[in-house]
Amino acid sequence: MDIPRCRACRESAGDLVLDLGDQPACDYFPELDDPGPDPVYPLQMWLCSSCGLAQLLADPTVPEEPKGAEPAALVAQAVDAVDRVDRAGLLPQNGVVTEYGSPHGGSWLGLLADRGLVPADSGQADVIVDCFGFMHAADQQRALAERVARVASDGVLLLQYHALSTIIRQRQWNALRHGHFAYYSTTALTAMLATVGFSPRTAWQFDLYGGTVLLAASRRGEAGTGPDAAVLSLLQDDARLGVRDPAAFADLQRDVQAHATALHDWLTGERSAGRKVLGYGAASRAVALLCHARVNRELLPAIADASPAKHGLRMPGTDIPVTDPAQLAANQPDAVVLFVPDLLAEVRGSIPEVEAAGGRWVDAETLGSRSLQ
Ligand SMILES: [Zn+2]
Repeated sequence: MDIPRCRACRESAGDLVLDLGDQPACDYFPELDDPGPDPVYPLQMWLCSSCGLAQLLADPTVPEEPKGAEPAALVAQAVDAVDRVDRAGLLPQNGVVTEYGSPHGGSWLGLLADRGLVPADSGQADVIVDCFGFMHAADQQRALAERVARVASDGVLLLQYHALSTIIRQRQWNALRHGHFAYYSTTALTAMLATVGFSPRTAWQFDLYGGTVLLAASRRGEAGTGPDAAVLSLLQDDARLGVRDPAAFADLQRDVQAHATALHDWLTGERSAGRKVLGYGAASRAVALLCHARVNRELLPAIADASPAKHGLRMPGTDIPVTDPAQLAANQPDAVVLFVPDLLAEVRGSIPEVEAAGGRWVDAETLGSRSLQ
């Protein structure tokens, strides 16, 4: 095996902290009649001992980068985030903004334009915003250098990320996926920013994905730009959890099989009891979970998804078809396994027929942790 090299600091000392074995690319949705087997690739998280960045060890997949339907929870969070940044005085009137977007969609530019900012594609900007874009860069060092070079002298870099502390604490092992190269702790990101002369200034936390952080950073040495209490609190939380310690990841690895077994056993039980169960959310975390749980269409006959591009295809690594959400209303299932918990409020509202017919929504993530209690 090649010696690993950190995507951020280029050092080679580190530990394999999460190993999901060989997995299909989670964005490769084959035609329904494609019998497979789908190509699989190692899916492993490596923790750099030098800078502390948790990252994909290797990724031989070619991203398909489908723009899925944008969940209402993501849209609402963007509104909240832009409002909080504005109230902190970080959005200068008529200031220039540049966005590094996520391939999954979810731009903040419209919201920022409403606050008087002017978008620009080139040159420096007063505000550089990166909402889940940074993690898609295989070369983290280069991607960070590119972003900070665009920040005007007294400008601000806004980075939003699904916190590594959330992934560890909530045992979200299936957050690991091909195409997402970095899993940031505030601690590792602070170290990365320091190498380019930047320092975190303030941060905000959101419930999205169980715990998401928006960090505002600027060049060091400017008056009053040291980390504030919100940043220090995140760093202290990281330290308590041990985000730089491979031992902190042990529960994450242990939960992989426990979670998968819990899902398989629950689906088997429901089928034995003669109850009809369908799924919702053909997301990347569903792919890893279903593959580990060896769930096929016998146990879960269909997974609905709001993205029309996925309809008529099947889930990677299994034979479960992806269908239009209208199928849920028509089929009156006894239960719908929800693979993306952030969607709960949205789907209860958009598909009221499920509960009206006596069905219930079941959180695929909680199903796993319950088995551990
Ligand atoms: Zn490193």
